[in-house]
Amino acid sequence: MSQGWIRTEGLTYAYTDDTTGEEQPALHCIDLNIEKGEYIAIIGHNGSGKSTLAKLLNLVLEPTGGAIYVDGKNVCAPDMTDEDVFALRQKVGMVFQNPDNQLVATIVEEDVAFGPENLGVPSQEIRRRVDEALAMVGMSEYARHEPHRLSGGQKQRVAIAGIIAMMPECMIFDESTAMLDPLGRQEVLDTMEMLHRDKNITIITITHHMDEAARADRIVVLDDGRILRDGTPEEIFSDPEPLLAAGLDVPQSASLIHRLRKRGLALEGQVGTPGACVDAICRMYEARHKSL
Ligand code: ADP
Ligand code: MG
Repeated sequence: MSQGWIRTEGLTYAYTDDTTGEEQPALHCIDLNIEKGEYIAIIGHNGSGKSTLAKLLNLVLEPTGGAIYVDGKNVCAPDMTDEDVFALRQKVGMVFQNPDNQLVATIVEEDVAFGPENLGVPSQEIRRRVDEALAMVGMSEYARHEPHRLSGGQKQRVAIAGIIAMMPECMIFDESTAMLDPLGRQEVLDTMEMLHRDKNITIITITHHMDEAARADRIVVLDDGRILRDGTPEEIFSDPEPLLAAGLDVPQSASLIHRLRKRGLALEGQVGTPGACVDAICRMYEARHKSL
């Protein structure tokens, strides 16, 4: 079995009710391996434990059972200092759903500088990182603007730049496109995929948009705090029943291919995206044509 760059072993979490003191289990014994440079989507119905998992990976929450290893180091060990936790959050950055809650300064470039400033990065280096991060997310011309006047997609890209400026190795996006209009959503998706492709940043994206999940290399499906499925988009979406039973959708293209296959059409290859779906249908058509 591979030893992922991020590895969870029997990772378990239960919330404690403040008033009754009762434990509410949210994650049960999660074993997950994530390799460096992977692009993973985590999907699951509301309350399936996605955000809890993200918060555990970022050490916002402390596991109530099991362990998390990052780069071979047990990051839940009792000897972890505050500095160690801080260093981990720099390595594994998190972008949340609501961009308004992530912006702290009144000027865009000050906002992006906030993280590296806290890390004690020298000011010349901060300048360089801020410029580079803003260029990467296509927001250089807004460096002196006020964040609250930007569109949702622009705000979210500034929030992403703030994480990039801390030079993370992994970024977790927790429904970071959920509050955006279609254009803003596309901007954030493009930025995320650029970070994966060009900067080799490991991307973990939590989404309820199946077409977004289909763009990842791998999909992990959570259901009531357990891993229901783990595989490529092709593997996950070519077997829609477990997803539908878990209250999830499948991308329309995958649903179409699945139904055509059920009717006996020999469609092969990837089906997660409309483009792949078109390819599969064309290949079948050509194969038939040749055999006639
Ligand atoms: P998701 O992100 O998949 O919607 P969450 O991780 O937010 O799911 O929630 C998992 C479970 O934990 C749900 O049953 C939810 O009600 C519960 N939960 C989440 N946050 C808290 C909290 N702060 N206190 C108590 N229970 C919580
Ligand atoms: Mg959530």
